[in-house]
Amino acid sequence: MASIYLDHAATTPLDPRVLDAMRPYWSEQFGNPSSLHRFGQAAAAALEDARRQTADVLGCAPEEISFTGCGSESDNLALRGVALEQRKRHGKRHLITMPIEHHAVGHTMAQLRDDFGYDLTVLPVDGDGRVDPADVARAIRPDTALVSVMYANNEIGTIEPLAEIARVAHERGVPLHTDAVQAAGQLTLNVDALGVDLLSISSHKFYGPKGVGALYVRKGTPFVSTLTGGGHEGGRRAGTQNVPGIAGLAAALTLAYAELERHTAHYRLLRDRLVRGMLAIPDVRLTGHPTERLPNNASFVIRNTTGQDLLIRLDLAGIAASSGSACLVGNPEPSDVLLALGLPREWALGALRLTVGRMTTAEDIDVVVAALPGIVQALRT
Ligand code: PLP
Repeated sequence: MASIYLDHAATTPLDPRVLDAMRPYWSEQFGNPSSLHRFGQAAAAALEDARRQTADVLGCAPEEISFTGCGSESDNLALRGVALEQRKRHGKRHLITMPIEHHAVGHTMAQLRDDFGYDLTVLPVDGDGRVDPADVARAIRPDTALVSVMYANNEIGTIEPLAEIARVAHERGVPLHTDAVQAAGQLTLNVDALGVDLLSISSHKFYGPKGVGALYVRKGTPFVSTLTGGGHEGGRRAGTQNVPGIAGLAAALTLAYAELERHTAHYRLLRDRLVRGMLAIPDVRLTGHPTERLPNNASFVIRNTTGQDLLIRLDLAGIAASSGSACLVGNPEPSDVLLALGLPREWALGALRLTVGRMTTAEDIDVVVAALPGIVQALRT
């Protein structure tokens, strides 16, 4: 039976070259980077090397990078760190975001609103999942502390107009955070080109290890640490650093950007083949922006099916996919992202996200495109 992995938005396999880069830091160079002795200094040197490599990809200063425990943590630190400091320093307590953020942003924003007295504006998105920069401009108030808009969506792959959002936010003196977890390894992360003040990434999405992320904070951005302790990571994130993980993140990021054109050209070719094949099935729609989308993301809704049934049938056929949302067994609810696009329920229930990767082949795509019409038909009858 086929064994085809089309869920690279969920996670990617570790690149063997990345494993090689991580290997020395478990048992040979195991020191604590905060220790003064030579073991510690060797670990500290590896850490600073990784910081410099990461900063090179983002086009920022190494001291603007903090390593974290995952993408979710990067998002949490960014939002709370700016929200708390802006309120303390300037009495600002208004936050702006949009409805299709990952929960790491959406739930953090909701908690700041519901439990900690912040005002939250959730801007609408259009049918492709894009927020209008003019809406951001209109929503900004004198007490706005932060705007957070993701770079590219994890379910539908839509890329947000960040540079224009940055411009309207900065004209009004408001910092901009972006969750770049899905964009990393596929789109530029140059923070000046994007115009962002804070940016979150997660290593396991770009062929690095799980459980390690990074947060960029532009120098001068109001920020207080919400993970306090020994003052690690420039005082922004306490905790002894995961040196092998961080070495892995930096190696994975460096490789991904050295090979960016090759990989993304491969993704685009396969994604477009997949889209063509899928749209030949009756009552199938592409979700997300038709062109402004992640190179590896092909996402659809299939009328009169459910995401859960599709995933089970695909899994039986040896194809690993995602519906882009968590569905409860026996009670599949359409994803908030698809409802925010204005899709009717009978469409939104049948969500299917296929995300290609470095090892995906044209033959894999052909197997999937050949299998799906039968699966869809069986579910509809
Ligand atoms: N943000 C986005 C857009 C994501 O897709 C994910 C993971 O799926 C995260 C944040 C969370 O990253 P992590 O799994 O490293 O916590």
